[in-house]
Amino acid sequence: MPQQGIIFNIQRFTIHDGPGLRTELFLKGCPLRCEWCSNPESWTAYIQPGVYKTKCISRKKCGLCEDVCPEESILNFTRGKLNSIERSKCTNCLSCINSCPSDAIKQWGKSMSIEECMKEIRKDKGYYERSGGGVTVSGGEPLLQSDFVAELFKACKDEGIQTCFESTFYADWKEIEKILPYTDIMISDIKHMDTDIHKKYTGVYNGKILENLKRLTNEQRELILRIPIIPNVNDDMENIEATADFILNELDSHVRTLQLLSFMRLGEEKYASLGMSYKMQDVKVNRKSFQKHVNEIANYFNSRGISCLVGTKEKE
Ligand code: SF4
Ligand code: SF4
Repeated sequence: MPQQGIIFNIQRFTIHDGPGLRTELFLKGCPLRCEWCSNPESWTAYIQPGVYKTKCISRKKCGLCEDVCPEESILNFTRGKLNSIERSKCTNCLSCINSCPSDAIKQWGKSMSIEECMKEIRKDKGYYERSGGGVTVSGGEPLLQSDFVAELFKACKDEGIQTCFESTFYADWKEIEKILPYTDIMISDIKHMDTDIHKKYTGVYNGKILENLKRLTNEQRELILRIPIIPNVNDDMENIEATADFILNELDSHVRTLQLLSFMRLGEEKYASLGMSYKMQDVKVNRKSFQKHVNEIANYFNSRGISCLVGTKEKE
């Protein structure tokens, strides 16, 4: 049976995740639960409904979702509008999405074949050639769908398209091995060097990730490394120094560039649509002083001989 991937977004003309202009596919499913994640719709590996209550017409005038739902009393209405779904009872049959006339129930995720993905990718082929771009696969954690990614990247390479793979690398090495022959550039991040703090904020220890990053250096692949700078989580100098030591001692010349991503409060509406709470909602930063702090961290990495930028745009 042909490979199918579960994809929650395809973006064209992206400039952030790899060189040049890119087509970026975001795959569903992730074993991490980073508290600052702006894509909670990527967490589960299956297709699911999201509720946007301001778009609901009203239960009285419409009520179609309630009519088609095979489970009883799991659609919660507030002041006549669909407010939430009882997730523990929802079977993700998606009937409510298909019946809703107003996009108040959005489908998070879509099953796509390799050929369907390639059709999207081929639309932008001319831009890759002119800009030095290509295809990026991101997530979620796309190593949860490693067979699909391997086949998709093989199809890209067969057509001369450059490939870039963004991953947490929280996976067994055998999954990474599947995609290596077809991958040009890797993107990953280091969230915290202390494994207990890493577990506290992401749900997993960092040992497997750091080991995989070290093993990748033996594979002669270029690595774009990132650090999401999260206030009061990983922005203290003790952690920054430990990260610089790890890069210099274990990864060194394989790091093409180090990119610092400043914390932004993003994705709150998506958390609400999935009936989930956003743990960073009370975190407030003074944008000017925080940006100064991030710039100082970048200066520190550069002073240690690690080429570091704030943001994701590569130097021209
Ligand atoms: S996805 Fe299916 S089970 Fe879940 S709320 Fe919609 S109709 Fe009901
Ligand atoms: S089908 Fe859509 S518009 Fe109609 S009641 Fe349900 S959520 Fe509201």
